[in-house]
Amino acid sequence: MDLSPLQLSLSSAQVQKKVASLAPLLLAWYDQNKRELPWRQDNSAYRVWVSEIMLQQTRVAAVIPYFERFMQALPTVQALAQADETALAKLWEGLGYYSRMRNLQKAAQKVVSDYNGVLPNDYEALLKLPGIGEYTAGAVASIAYGIAVAAVDGNVYRVLARLLSSPADIALPKVKQAFKLVDELMLSPTRPGDFNQAMMELGATVCLPNTAPNCPVCPLSAHCLGLKNKTAAALPNKSPKKPRRIEQKTVVLFCKGGKVLLQKRPPKGLLAGLWEFIMFDDFLQPEELPAYLEQKGIKPLSISALGQAKHIFSHVEWHMTGYEVQVNDFPLRAGMVWATPEEIGSTYAIASALNAYKQALLSSQLSLF
Ligand code: SF4
Repeated sequence: MDLSPLQLSLSSAQVQKKVASLAPLLLAWYDQNKRELPWRQDNSAYRVWVSEIMLQQTRVAAVIPYFERFMQALPTVQALAQADETALAKLWEGLGYYSRMRNLQKAAQKVVSDYNGVLPNDYEALLKLPGIGEYTAGAVASIAYGIAVAAVDGNVYRVLARLLSSPADIALPKVKQAFKLVDELMLSPTRPGDFNQAMMELGATVCLPNTAPNCPVCPLSAHCLGLKNKTAAALPNKSPKKPRRIEQKTVVLFCKGGKVLLQKRPPKGLLAGLWEFIMFDDFLQPEELPAYLEQKGIKPLSISALGQAKHIFSHVEWHMTGYEVQVNDFPLRAGMVWATPEEIGSTYAIASALNAYKQALLSSQLSLF
């Protein structure tokens, strides 16, 4: 077992000895302190899977209403497999990272065709489903099926880095792999699902990020080298991400007869398949817009500025300026529709990057006519 990437002061044998006895402490704490969450009421593989996919990149509090709505609308793998694309996008609207949703449905279709609608009771088979990586496969296998495999997310890397006082960079794949080995040494063979949830729960509620571990209430405090060495608050080390690319956009809500023009984004790439207002790759000032539109064969009747907005994706930022433009006519292309505000509220899933402008529309700040 190679733990050298972790740059520890202990040998592998010492680490093994140190962590082997920790699972009972952690599980006793979890039994007393776990949060009541809707996906914990029933450990069926479908519910565990959907919740884990939703929780990627999204906070627990934000996920809860989405999860409940999703389970009510699509209570089974079969229902998800057959769901209408527009209705599914509407259920996901606002959660972001829409490729998760598309993979969820592709995987559901594969589960229906290859596994009779039941997620496979097998870690390797789960890994082969679209959108399921090592973490999600480990979570579903251990929580729903009691299979003794690790599920290591960002919370768990943080807990382990502090517990062992490891200065290693947790952004590096070899470091993640070594921490996974440590987690497997700790794992409870009799309660693997609870163990994995307990580690995540400890990271999410006690061993908090950003220099804020709450060590006095931690069940592992007597064994924590980060606490003993006073390194915990500064850990884990993580190399900074590359700066995001900035893209400038002009968002235009073209309005005609009480409707607003929408267009569907391409089926691949950022926000694939979602609806958006018309956007131009430029940051147009109010005085530039009329000539710009006329070049495109669009004759504005009136123009009102809607202000600026920003949206941050993982690798890119959109810096936007928005306008409401009244028109009598528009050169429509395939994939464009005129929609009422009610239809935008109920039917069309608008990319959440455009929320500022959607809210302006739904709160009737626009004249529309
Ligand atoms: Fe984290 Fe503190 Fe617990 Fe160590 S003792 S695992 S630093 S909360």
